[in-house]
Amino acid sequence: MEQHYSSFIEPVAYSTPPVIPNTTCNFCKKRYTTEAQLKNHECKIKPFILAGLNPNGTPNPDNVRFTDTQKDNLIRKLLLEVAILHKKVAKHDQELKQLKRKHMMQIVRSLNNDPSQVPSKTLNQWIAQLSVSISNVALIFQKNLHEAIKQVIYDGLNMSSNSNVKIPIQCFYEKANTLYIYGEESSGIVKWYSGDTSTIRKLCSSIATRFLQIYVENEEYFIDPSLDPDEKQDKKIQNLNKVMDHYYTNSNFLQELIVKLYDKLKERFPYADSTTTQESDED
Ligand SMILES: [Zn+2]
Repeated sequence: MEQHYSSFIEPVAYSTPPVIPNTTCNFCKKRYTTEAQLKNHECKIKPFILAGLNPNGTPNPDNVRFTDTQKDNLIRKLLLEVAILHKKVAKHDQELKQLKRKHMMQIVRSLNNDPSQVPSKTLNQWIAQLSVSISNVALIFQKNLHEAIKQVIYDGLNMSSNSNVKIPIQCFYEKANTLYIYGEESSGIVKWYSGDTSTIRKLCSSIATRFLQIYVENEEYFIDPSLDPDEKQDKKIQNLNKVMDHYYTNSNFLQELIVKLYDKLKERFPYADSTTTQESDED
């Protein structure tokens, strides 16, 4: 009877408690409420421990030295991992480029789909009507040609914005340092497209050509009449060199001008739904 009794209660006494999963990190010793949380936590200590270092990154003298074979294996494993990472990064780069391109296409498409965005003049027509005067040419000799070109563009932008004329250049916060141009694209079709340094170079060179015309027609105006003939001749050559300077075709200058125009003209993109990704990068 007694035996029977004890064999009856025994299973109760020895029943194993419900298994409590270990949710403490072996490396940083932090405790988590669920196994999933433990698995997902980004352990700051683990990489150091796995690398045989102290948690603060200093060498750990207690670690047994690797044998040559272990070293060889470790290096091979690392090389493989680096190669795999390289491939992954390249793939992500590619995807990012495609995404940016898609984003750019969306902006261009939205502009071209909206008749209210069509300016009265293409970029070439707008440039052609900018006023270029003798005083603009004088700035070439006070400063230099590229500063004088910039001044003509800035004055033109101010004039257009004061008279509420739609400028054939638009830029948006959503796409840093990108100018959208209305005009004849390389295919010959007139529409909005994303401009680059070559677009801006053409713009500058058409202003430079007008500077040269005005200068040639007014050569004597820029010469001090009190100079003797030889000095006058030298001065004319100096002036001509300044008028024909080509620094404005330099890609650094053009890129800088793009950034300055972007800063002057940037606004919110008017079609909120067609751009889902916000970009703040600088390229
Ligand atoms: Zn941890």
